[in-house]
Amino acid sequence: MTFTVLNPATEEPIAELEQAGVEETDEAVARAKEAFPAWSAVAPGDRARLLRRLATLVEEHTEELARIESRNVGKPISGARGEIGMVAQVFHYYAGAIDKHFGETIPVAGGVAATFREPLGVVGLIVPWNFPANIASWKLGPALACGNTVVLKPAELTPLSAIRLGELCLEAGIPEGVVNVLVGKGSIVGQRLIEHPDVAKIAFTGSTEVGRLVMQGAAGTIKRVTLELGGKSANVIFEDADLERAAASAPYSVFDNAGQDCCARSRILVQKSVYDRFLELLIEATKGIKVGDPADDATEMGPLISAAHRETVASFVNGEPLFRGDAPDSPGFWFPCTIVEATNDDRIAREEVFGPVAAVIPFEDEADAICIANDTPYGLSGSIWTQDGARALRMARAIEAGVLSVNANTSVRVSTPFGGFKQSGFGRELGMHALEGYSEIKSVFISTES
Ligand code: NAD
Repeated sequence: MTFTVLNPATEEPIAELEQAGVEETDEAVARAKEAFPAWSAVAPGDRARLLRRLATLVEEHTEELARIESRNVGKPISGARGEIGMVAQVFHYYAGAIDKHFGETIPVAGGVAATFREPLGVVGLIVPWNFPANIASWKLGPALACGNTVVLKPAELTPLSAIRLGELCLEAGIPEGVVNVLVGKGSIVGQRLIEHPDVAKIAFTGSTEVGRLVMQGAAGTIKRVTLELGGKSANVIFEDADLERAAASAPYSVFDNAGQDCCARSRILVQKSVYDRFLELLIEATKGIKVGDPADDATEMGPLISAAHRETVASFVNGEPLFRGDAPDSPGFWFPCTIVEATNDDRIAREEVFGPVAAVIPFEDEADAICIANDTPYGLSGSIWTQDGARALRMARAIEAGVLSVNANTSVRVSTPFGGFKQSGFGRELGMHALEGYSEIKSVFISTES
C-alpha cells in the first residue's frame, strides 16, 4: 500500500510512499537487533567520530533538509533552517557526550562497587508531525551515543526529513542496520514496535491520548518508556513586567509553527490591573505576524498540517474573538491568528488546541496566578514575566511544569533537560539528562579480599 504526502500550504502531493506493515516492522527490528552487538562495541571515540560526521553532513545539507521540512510541514523556511541547525547541534552535542557519560565507584565494605552505563538494545523512536527532524534528532542523538540501535517511525503526514536523515546516517558511515526508518501507520508500525519483544524501549513524542496507549502496550514486555506529550502552558504576565517586551514576545510563543507546538503558551494569564493595556499591546503585536507562503524568507506563520486538523482547531473558536488576523484564501490549510478571552474552565483553556488560538485569562494576584497556571492536567512548559526577582523564583518553583522561562518564552536548548510534569509525560530529552533514558545502570561488586 502507498500513501500520498501533501504540501499543506498548497494541498498538492509531494511524494507517494510505500507504507510498512507488521512484516516490515519485524524485519526492521531484526536488522537493528543484528546490528546491535557490533554497534555497542564500537570504541567511544569512533562512535563520537561517526556522530560528528553525521552532524557535519546535516550542516552541509541544511538548505535541502530545511526545504524538505518546510514543504512537508508548511513551516516558514527561516524557522525550518533554524530547526535543521539544531539537529546538527544535537548530533555534535551527543558526539561530545559519549566519553563523558561516566560510571561511579562507591565506597563499600570488602571490595569495590562500580557502576556501568549499558545500552538498552533496540530502541523504537516514535515522533510527531510538528517538528519531525528536530524531535527525531533529540532521540537519535542520545540513543546512538549510548550504543543502541534504533527503528525510527516518523508521523504519517511528515516522513520526508526522517527518510533523508536515515540516508545521511549511512553516508556518515554509521553501519547498515543501526538506524532503520520505517514509514507507516501509528496503529500498525507504532503499535508493533510497542509490543515487539525485541524492542527494549519506546521513546515517544505525541499526544497524551496515544501516550496512554504506549504505556499500556509496553506493559506486556515491561518495556522502558519515555513520553513527551501534550501541553497547555501558561504565560503569566504580572503588572510589574516590562509589558512592551512581554507583549512583543507573546504572539510568537503561541502562533509560532502555527500554534502546533507542545510548548505553546496558549493560556496567557494577565494581572487584572494591566489587563486592558496588555491586550492592546498583544493585539498590536499579533497584527505584525507575517502569514503566508512558507517558502518566502519573510514569512513567520504557515498553514496548519491538514484539513482535518483545521476543523479541530476551528471547533475551539465559538463566537466573536477579541482578535482575528488575516490568512490566505488560496488552497492550503490556513487558519488566522486568533485571540479569545476565556476563563480557565472553558474548553479552550483546558484542551490542547494545537493551532494559532490564544486564550487570555485575567488573574487577581500571585496566589490566583499559581492556582490558574496549575489547574490543568498538563505540565510541560510556561513563562513568568515580572521585574521582581523573588517573585520570579517563587513562581518558577510553584508552577508544576518541566520547563519554565522568566522574562522569556523559550523552552528548548540542546544542553538543558526538556520534558513534562503530570500528563505531559515523563523522562527528559536533551542535555546530559537524555542519556539516562537510553542506558541502564549496572552495579558491579569486585571483592578485594584475598
Ligand atoms: P499523535 O499522538 O497522533 O502521533 C504521534 C506519533 O505516534 C505518530 O508517529 C503516530 O503515527 C504515532 N501513533 C499514532 N497512534 C499510534 C498507536 N496506536 N501506537 C503507536 N504509535 C501511534 O500526535 P501528533 O498528532 O503527531 O502530534 C501532536 C501531539 O504531539 C500533540 O499533542 C503535541 O503536544 C505532542 N507533542 C509533544 C511534544 C513534547 O515534546 N512534549 C513535542 C511535539 C509534539
